Amino acid sequence: MKKIPFVTKEKVEEIVKTYPTPFHIYDEKGIRENVEAVKEAFSWNKGFKEYFAVKATPNPFLINILHEYGCGCDCSSLTELMLSHAMGIDGNEVMFSSNDTPAEDYEYAAKIGAIINLDDITHIDFLEGILGKLPETMSCRYNPGGVFQMGNGIMDNPGDAKYGFTTEQLFEGYRILKEKGVQHFGLHAFLASNTVTNEYYPQLAKQLFEVAVRLKEEIGVEIAFINLSGGVGIPYTPDQEPNDIRAIGEGVRKVYEEVLVTADMGNVAIYTEMGRFMMGPYGELVTKVIHEKHTHKEYIGVDACAVNLMRPAMYGAYHHITVLGKEESPCSHQYDVTGSLCENNDKFAIDRMLPVIEKGDYLVIHDTGAHGHAMGYNYNGKLRSAELLLKTDGSVELIRRAETPKDYFATLDCFEVFDKLQ
Ligand SMILES: *Cc1c(COP(=O)(O)O)cnc(C)c1O
Repeated sequence: MKKIPFVTKEKVEEIVKTYPTPFHIYDEKGIRENVEAVKEAFSWNKGFKEYFAVKATPNPFLINILHEYGCGCDCSSLTELMLSHAMGIDGNEVMFSSNDTPAEDYEYAAKIGAIINLDDITHIDFLEGILGKLPETMSCRYNPGGVFQMGNGIMDNPGDAKYGFTTEQLFEGYRILKEKGVQHFGLHAFLASNTVTNEYYPQLAKQLFEVAVRLKEEIGVEIAFINLSGGVGIPYTPDQEPNDIRAIGEGVRKVYEEVLVTADMGNVAIYTEMGRFMMGPYGELVTKVIHEKHTHKEYIGVDACAVNLMRPAMYGAYHHITVLGKEESPCSHQYDVTGSLCENNDKFAIDRMLPVIEKGDYLVIHDTGAHGHAMGYNYNGKLRSAELLLKTDGSVELIRRAETPKDYFATLDCFEVFDKLQ
C-alpha cells in the first residue's frame, strides 16, 4: 500500500516557521479513529480494556487522548508509573508489567494501586518482603518457551527471551499466591513482536485460554483477566498488508467461545497492552536535508540523527521515507540517508531508491509514533527533538519542547563548571 504522509510540504513549511526541524509530529485524527476501531473490535467482551504501553510514546497529551476512550496505562518503570499517576490514571487503570524490577518501583506501583504483573516466581517473595502483604489482585507473565510458530513460520523465540514464568513455575506461582490470600488473578504473555498478521492474537489467546482452563481445573485458580499484551504490528514497508483489528477481535472472540465459554468461564475480561499498533503509524519524524555528499556512495545528510529515531541503527529496521513535494516523482536515485552521529550505523536508509533530493528538501520518516522519540538518547551531545500534535482541526500544538543545551548539562548542576555552561 502506498504510504502517504499525513503532513504536506505546505503544512511543514508553515510549521517550521514556529518549530524548526527535526520534530516528531502526531496525527490526532488517526489516533482517534484507530482507538475507536480497537474498542469496537473487542466490544463483545464486557471487561475489555487496552492498557496503552507507555514506553512506546510516553507523552501525556497523547496518553490523554487514549484515556478519553477508556484506555489505561501499561507501565514498566517508576517514572512511567509517576507519569500515569500525575495524569490521574491510577488504580486498576494501570498495569505494571516490568521485569528485573527494583524494590522502589514495586513500592510505588502498590501505592497507586496498579495491577502488578509478576515477571518471575521469585518476585512473589520479593514483593511480599517489600509490601508486607500481597495485593488482592495479582497477575503472572507466562513464557511457555520454545518458538512461537504460526502457519507462516517461526514468529519469535520465547525460549530465548528473559521474560516470564515457565509452565511449571506458573502453576506453582498461582498456588502460592492463592495460599497467600490473593483473591483475583490475571494471566499475561507477550510471545511475538511486531506481528503483521491477524492470526497472532487469536493463537496467543487460545494458548492462554487453555492454560486458564487448566488452572481452574487443576488448582482451583479462577483467572479474572487475560492480558494479550503487545506485539500487534504495523506495516513499516509499503508491501505489507496492515493488520485488520476487526478480524483480530473476531478471531479472539471465536477462540474465547470455543475454549472459555465452553468451560463455563465466559466472564473472563480481555486486556491488551498495545503500544506500536496504537501509535506507530500516527507519528512521523520530519527532517530537513542539510548536505549531500558524493564519495564512494551517494549520501543525503539530514538534521535528524539516530538519537531522534534509533530503530534503523539498532535493529536495521525499515522506515519508509517520503520526500515532501516529490510524492509523485520517480524513485530514480539510490541514497544512504544519514544523520550526523560519529557512528556509521547512523543511517535512516541504506541504498534506498528515492526521487532526486536537493538541499532544503523536507523528508518524512514514517511510522515513528511508537518506540520513536521514546527511545531517544544524547550520544554525541545530541539533543532530543520536539513533539508536535497535528490536531483534528488542522492546527498544530507543541506537546513536548525540544531539548536545549541547558537540559543536556542539567545533571552537572552540582559542580562548579556548571556556571560556565550557562
Ligand atoms: C513493549 C511492551 C508492550 C508493547 O509492545 P508493542 O509491540 O509496542 O505493542 C506491551 N507490554 C509489555 C510488557 C511490553 O514490554
